[in-house]
Amino acid sequence: VSERWIERAERELASEGRKRGGARRAVLELLGAEPCALSAQEIERELHRRDGRGASRASIYRVLDELERLRLVARVETGQQVVRYERASGHGEHHHHLVCERCGLIRPFSDPGLERAIARLSERVPLAVSEHEIVLRGACASCAESPAAPPTDS
Ligand SMILES: [Zn+2]
Ligand SMILES: [Zn+2]
Repeated sequence: VSERWIERAERELASEGRKRGGARRAVLELLGAEPCALSAQEIERELHRRDGRGASRASIYRVLDELERLRLVARVETGQQVVRYERASGHGEHHHHLVCERCGLIRPFSDPGLERAIARLSERVPLAVSEHEIVLRGACASCAESPAAPPTDS
């Protein structure tokens, strides 16, 4: 759990004059403990599972919007229909994503050699590079094992 991230987020939200709320704290604790990205729907489901009440989708989106505006969470676009959110990486926590195109599974990965290659490339391209994101798509281990779903007859 990234206590530091949770504390930083609470501090920055408080300095914006945001009131503490149950949904906010619950979302912070969830994302603070999560190594990678979750969709709003996954957050809603998990919060409900935890205390049997959860938080409304609207209040979850409100918290995510605030956190995104303060750059405390990053939006992860994987090219699927769903947008996911993860806590913004501090120093040394930078990672990229593996996405299963069949079941939607998303996993973090990092690779120092890749980072060095991107840093070298960044010096040669006509762009002052500030960020990069890498998504590798394919089939996860369990989807690769099981045969593709048969075509539906319709
Ligand atoms: Zn991630
Ligand atoms: Zn899969």
